Amino acid sequence: MITETTTEAIYEKLTGLLSKTVPDFELRIKAELAAEINQLKLEKNAVILGHNYMEPALFYSIPDYVGDSLELSRKAAQSNKDIIVFCGVKFMAETAKILNPTKKVLVPSEKAGCSLAASITAQDVRELKAKFPGVPVVTYINTYADVKAESDICCTSGNAVEVVKSLKTDRVIFIPDEYLAANVARETGKQIIYPTRDPLRRFTEDLDYQMIGWPGRCEVHEKFTVEDIVNVRKQFPDVIILAHPECSPEVVAASDFSGSTTAMIKYVEKTNAPHYLMLTECSMGDNVAAANPDKEMLRLCSIRCPHMNQITLEDTLEALQKEQFEIVIDEEIRKKAYVAVERMLHIG
Ligand code: SF4
Repeated sequence: MITETTTEAIYEKLTGLLSKTVPDFELRIKAELAAEINQLKLEKNAVILGHNYMEPALFYSIPDYVGDSLELSRKAAQSNKDIIVFCGVKFMAETAKILNPTKKVLVPSEKAGCSLAASITAQDVRELKAKFPGVPVVTYINTYADVKAESDICCTSGNAVEVVKSLKTDRVIFIPDEYLAANVARETGKQIIYPTRDPLRRFTEDLDYQMIGWPGRCEVHEKFTVEDIVNVRKQFPDVIILAHPECSPEVVAASDFSGSTTAMIKYVEKTNAPHYLMLTECSMGDNVAAANPDKEMLRLCSIRCPHMNQITLEDTLEALQKEQFEIVIDEEIRKKAYVAVERMLHIG
């Protein structure tokens, strides 16, 4: 993606994409900020990566690359710039640092966490491995570096099924997203248990299970319900509903399609339905609507990610100016985490 460096060029671009939804004076303010960021980016030899959940004015003005965790991880690994600014949450910026350790990696807000990443610690993984010796650990990319370091391989929502199949083992530990694990278990024909819910319960070999999960959840996707879908379909009977695999299995089953953020975007681009609703962070609906003005996108915007929404143009400018908040990872942990992330990248 080519990013413009003058206020006028950015304003023109944003107006073309967002003038129906964002007032003109707001677009001007954002264009000025974005121009300052893009000039600084050139001066400091930086690259900006923007996750699909960034708000539209930021999404369409400053990132050199946009995409999901997997795509942005690849871009981070390949970057030869001195500074990588990750407009996303902390675990994503950590993944960039894991893959490209000699670069200065910045995340624009220290508050950009994630309920999934916070749901599990490295000690939790060590205890799971002790409880299920020899069972490989598949760890969702939405985790911190020390958890990845305890894992055999990482996955994203886009390649989780392939990663699990690639192991060709009878059992896998799949952490930390309870719902993603349940959706992957269904797709791969495996029975899943969540032993940590009931730590006193003994698990014996006669119990039939092939996946061991963990009760972490995305605080955004867990909130969508089958009732939401029923209500939307009542009002818009012709709507196509797309659910992220971090939604519950019931919500996924009641939807028309389930896939990663990139898979959802491609689905909308390639099909022609009267209405679409994506059950994911609301900003992505705005971004897809801006890029596809011929498509009617419905939104359930009362459900937002408080972490992704920490990332603003103002904070990104300040992060570049002060070169804050830098990601630092212990080298031993980074090397171990690198092995798990790199194995995933080989699979796809
Ligand atoms: S949307 Fe969910 S998984 Fe993504 S950063 Fe927010 S809390 Fe974490």
